[in-house]
Amino acid sequence: MENCIFCKIIKGELPSAKIYEDEETLAFLDIQPVQLGHALVIPKKHSDNFSQSLSEVINPLLHVCQKVGEAVKKGVAADGYNVSMNNGEAAGQIVHHLHFHVIPRYFNDGLKPWPHKKYKEGEIASVAAKITREL
Ligand code: 5GP
Ligand code: ZN
Repeated sequence: MENCIFCKIIKGELPSAKIYEDEETLAFLDIQPVQLGHALVIPKKHSDNFSQSLSEVINPLLHVCQKVGEAVKKGVAADGYNVSMNNGEAAGQIVHHLHFHVIPRYFNDGLKPWPHKKYKEGEIASVAAKITREL
């Protein structure tokens, strides 16, 4: 992908603070971190997003997220970490090259969890049924 920032990082055309690399995967620090040590884990083969990625691409990425997550946690003395991904623009995806975020977390770090809604009476079963029909 010619204009993909992450493909350029993989090819070495753009600089990055690499923390891990193997045949299929690259991990480097996010340039605008939520917390210092915030890492991105990406496949070397371009894939637009999670929805369009094959499990053979996703599975090794998750393995690296675990490895990198543990190293990030120790490296920046965090109490835990989030592994997350934004799938599609509505979900906050800006870079259209599949990536997982590994974000170190601290007790009382001030980051707010997502707000929660409540289901109306009986609604949870109908929502579950709508989703199940698509599987
Ligand atoms: P998204 O919102 O697509 O899930 O996240 C994209 C992430 O990539 C953002 O957190 C952003 O800071 C990071 N990012 C964008 N451009 C660059 C870059 O050139 N270098 C690095 N290291 N990170 C980038
Ligand atoms: Zn790419």
